[in-house]
Amino acid sequence: MAKIYLRAGHGGRYSGAVGNGLVEKQETLRHILMLAEELSKYEGLELKLARTADVTVELNDSIAEANRWGADLYYSSHINGFQDSSAYGYESHIYPTPLAESIRVQNVLHPKQAAVWVKWGSRDRGKKRSNFAELRETKMAAILVENGFITNKNDAQLLRNNSFLQELTQATVEAFVELYDLKKKEEPGMTAKTYIVQSGDNMYRIARNNNMTLEELASYNPHITDINYIEVGDIVFLSKPTLFEVDYAAMNRELILCRKKKEEYEKIGKEINTLSHKFL
Ligand SMILES: [Zn+2]
Repeated sequence: MAKIYLRAGHGGRYSGAVGNGLVEKQETLRHILMLAEELSKYEGLELKLARTADVTVELNDSIAEANRWGADLYYSSHINGFQDSSAYGYESHIYPTPLAESIRVQNVLHPKQAAVWVKWGSRDRGKKRSNFAELRETKMAAILVENGFITNKNDAQLLRNNSFLQELTQATVEAFVELYDLKKKEEPGMTAKTYIVQSGDNMYRIARNNNMTLEELASYNPHITDINYIEVGDIVFLSKPTLFEVDYAAMNRELILCRKKKEEYEKIGKEINTLSHKFL
């Protein structure tokens, strides 16, 4: 179980960099919230967020919290700012004498995030090593990303673009999936045991093959109104289904019957066609 600590840079009374009508603390929070929502669809990880709103969380408190929690990764999200508005692009930072795990994280995460920036017309400023407190004082693998320059018009434009942000989030999720071998949570599906009717099947044989009486099998399958009559593709429940599952099986049966009817009509249509050629 990977424990990932996500920190949206700044917040509350620390606004961070500002430019082009954007404030860093808000944009970092937006990125972290989008990321956390996507990551919640996966299993094999635990998340902790330094903040989920525009509140003041001291940097030292975040670092201490991540250390105490025993995080496997400290991911810090920032946005650059510079007096020269022509500076632009994405960069990632790890500590100058990093843990091997920090290097691994940067090698996986950086190219994926950078590719999104480059694709949207910004640029990759490279993998950096910096003596930042967040990277120095954290005991686990730690990475700090600078998602563009808020002071650059084009980068700021991208930070306002939802499609861009979604791609950036997706790239980040893909990196975490690769780093920690995360698996997508199963969508809720059928809970009852099912069998799909094959050509030549009948209910007696299906019951016998599954060591149950015909009455028992029939009781699990109220959508099969006549046990002497089943169609190839019919869903047969081998254990007690939910009401929803019965509805689904009944709809599936309607669909099979509709297709069969359609084939019959097409066949009749062809025959009429052939006959009319004979007589006309
Ligand atoms: Zn910052």
